[in-house]
Amino acid sequence: MSFLGNILKKNLTKRISIDLGSANVLVYVAGQGIVINEPSVVAINNRNEQILAVGQDAKVMIGRTPPYITISKPLVDGVISDFEVTEKMIKHFIQKVHREGFAFMSRATVLVGIPLDITEVERKAVEDAVIGAGAKEVFLIDEPMAAAIGAGLQVLEPQASMIVDIGGGTTDIAVISLGGIVTWKSLKLAGDKLNDVIIQYIREKYNLLVGDKTSELVKIGIGSALPLDEKMQMSIRGRDLMSGLPKEITITDDEIRDAMLRPIKTIVENIKSTVESTPPELVADLYQRGMVITGGGALLRNIDKLIARETKIPVQLADDPLTTVVRGAGLVLEDYGTFGSLITAKGSI
Ligand code: ADP
Ligand code: MG
Repeated sequence: MSFLGNILKKNLTKRISIDLGSANVLVYVAGQGIVINEPSVVAINNRNEQILAVGQDAKVMIGRTPPYITISKPLVDGVISDFEVTEKMIKHFIQKVHREGFAFMSRATVLVGIPLDITEVERKAVEDAVIGAGAKEVFLIDEPMAAAIGAGLQVLEPQASMIVDIGGGTTDIAVISLGGIVTWKSLKLAGDKLNDVIIQYIREKYNLLVGDKTSELVKIGIGSALPLDEKMQMSIRGRDLMSGLPKEITITDDEIRDAMLRPIKTIVENIKSTVESTPPELVADLYQRGMVITGGGALLRNIDKLIARETKIPVQLADDPLTTVVRGAGLVLEDYGTFGSLITAKGSI
C-alpha cells in the first residue's frame, strides 16, 4: 500500500484494546482513551433469546429477575465460559464505540488481553468471539504484560519487573524481563472468593444470610488485610436463618479481616513462591525495584503493606488499578514501534 494509503488506513481503522475481565470489561480506543468500563454482566430475555441489557444496566438486575430473564456472567476466571453471550457482549460494546465515532469508520483492529494459563481452545474462542463481534482483525497480549505496561514498568529492560494482578476470579503473578515473562503463577482465587468467605463467616457467626452484593459492600467498605489505624464498622441487613425474617447486625473491620484471613494468606504465599522460583539476578532486582500490585483486589486496605511485610520486597499500588490492563494494551496500540514485539500473534497494527 502507498504511504498515503497507509496513513488513510491507519486513520480510518479504529484501533481498540479490550480487557475481558471476569468482573469488568474495559475498552480503550487509540487516540481517545478508555471509552467503556462496565461490569461483565449480560441480561437475556429467555422468551426470544435476545439481549435485554449489558454491563451496569444488567448488573442492577442481579437477584431481582422474574423467570423470563436470565443473568449471565459469561467470563469465568478470565476465560470465556459462555461463548455466544461473550460474543454478543463484545459486539454490543464495539457497536457502541462505533456509534460514538464516525459513520464511515471501517471495522476495528482489536488487541485483547488474555490470561497466561489459557488453552489453545480458549485462546481461539477469544479470537473467534472478537471476530464474530465484527472486528476486522484480532491480536492478543498476555494480560500481566499489558498490566505491567499500564503500570508504567520498564518491561523491555534487562531487569526484573514484577506485577501482581488481583482481579475478581484470578490472581496473576508475573516476573518480567526483556519483554518476556520469566516466572508466573495464576490462582483461581481473588476478589470473588473474599466475598464468599465473608458470606460464610456472617452465616456461621450470626446465623444471618446475606447476598453477594452485601458482602462486596462490606469488603470495600471496611475490609482490610492488616489492622487499621482507626476501627471501622458497618451495619448490614440479611435474612435471619432461625426466624426467616430480616435482621440487622453491626460488623467490624476485625471480623472481616478474620473472615478473609485464609484466602489472603494463600495469595501472599503464592507471591512468595513465585519470587522463590525466580532466578537470583532478577530477585536481586526485585528487592531494589519492588513489585506493583494492581486489579480491583489491590484496593483492599493494607494489602500492599501485608505483601511487603511477608515478602520483604517493596510494594507499590498501581494508579487506577482497575484500568491498568486496558491502558497497557492501549499503549501498545499507540506505540506499536516500541511494544509491537510483545503481541503474541503475528501481524502488524
Ligand atoms: P477482573 O479483571 O477479574 O474483571 P477487576 O480487576 O476488575 O477484576 O477487579 C474486580 C474485583 O476487585 C472484584 O472482586 C471487586 O470486589 C474487587 N474490588 C473492587 N474495588 C475494591 C476495593 N476498593 N477493595 C477491595 N476489593 C475491591
Ligand atoms: Mg483483570
